[in-house]
Amino acid sequence: MDKLFIKNAKVVLPDTVTDKVSVLVCDGKIKEINCKVCPESAEVLDADGGYLLAGFIDTHVHGGGGADFMEATVEAFHTVTETHLKHGTTMLAPTSMTATPEELQSFVKTYLEFLKTDRKGAKTLGLHLEGPYLSGAGGKSKGAQRGDLLRYPDMDEIKLLYELSEGHIIRWDTAPELPGAVEFAEYLSSKGVVCSMAHSAATTDQAETGINAGFSHVTHCYNAITTYHKDGQKVLDGVVEAAYLNDDVVIELICDGCHIPKGIVRLALKLKGAKKVCAITDAMRIAGTDMKKGYLGTPSCGSEVIVDDGVAKLPDLSSFAGSIATTDRCLRVLCRNYGINICDASKMLSLAPAKLHKIDKEYGSIEVGKVADLVIADCNYNIESVILDGIIKKF
Ligand SMILES: [Zn+2]
Repeated sequence: MDKLFIKNAKVVLPDTVTDKVSVLVCDGKIKEINCKVCPESAEVLDADGGYLLAGFIDTHVHGGGGADFMEATVEAFHTVTETHLKHGTTMLAPTSMTATPEELQSFVKTYLEFLKTDRKGAKTLGLHLEGPYLSGAGGKSKGAQRGDLLRYPDMDEIKLLYELSEGHIIRWDTAPELPGAVEFAEYLSSKGVVCSMAHSAATTDQAETGINAGFSHVTHCYNAITTYHKDGQKVLDGVVEAAYLNDDVVIELICDGCHIPKGIVRLALKLKGAKKVCAITDAMRIAGTDMKKGYLGTPSCGSEVIVDDGVAKLPDLSSFAGSIATTDRCLRVLCRNYGINICDASKMLSLAPAKLHKIDKEYGSIEVGKVADLVIADCNYNIESVILDGIIKKF
């Protein structure tokens, strides 16, 4: 039996942080919290008084380490998953960009190939498709997605891609106001796919029609998503209000410290609770590198971006274009810069995404019986160790 004894750790539990205690891991599962006796055969890891947290689950990530999933090569999948693991992401959902039907098919096929290989990075939850059925209305909500490739939901394409994925598409983002969005949500939600409202110009009523059809999540809430605004003399509401008015809807926030200010994080936590607010990176290829410019997506389906003030932007600075954050930065932003308590930050980074994808029986928090995907962070929230299936990763 493989045993790991993590001593001297402040364990971040869902609602409290322990004093310095020890945690015993056996055969990749959490066996005992506040374990008093170290078994003779156990490997010992001294957390040195740092925090022991559930591994981070990033459900929205495009790239990192210089690679992007839309390159559709097995190597790119390895590079991105390995890069993010070093920063504490123990599980992620490879995320696509708006692209041609052929490019989306090769993204899906490459993932199936990748699953057959020996993988050393973060685990993968399944595929997340961001687009291509997004609103380009007024050019305001497309963000950095390529406008000329946006289209209305096409059930033939949707069914083909879903079947091609052999059930590995676990989330799909679409603007709920588009013609065909109701059919999209009814079909995919019946398959257990999380349908998320994204890059949308919808009013609250339109968003609620989508929610009734099966949309249950909001993609990078507040970014390329409507909220209260004026159109000439008219006052309008948006997707954000629909998310707050419907308790079952989960939202995600890009917690890089640039996309979402502190007050919005606090408001979202107050209205929805940390179990329904996922912290994501929305990271692009520059994450985890020193690069100053690159592509969001690939040269054929993406946009050129530059790094300015710790965030990726379109070269004319007209829009943010994905973040360059890794999940450890999200933890620091939430706890150090925004003053969010570490239990809530941990829920946002681990439990909320695990619940959204219904894997919270095994993942998302430190509880006896759950998989030992864990991170240790020092008092400044820098990652000291990453543990996957009870095994300490060496980088
Ligand atoms: Zn994205």
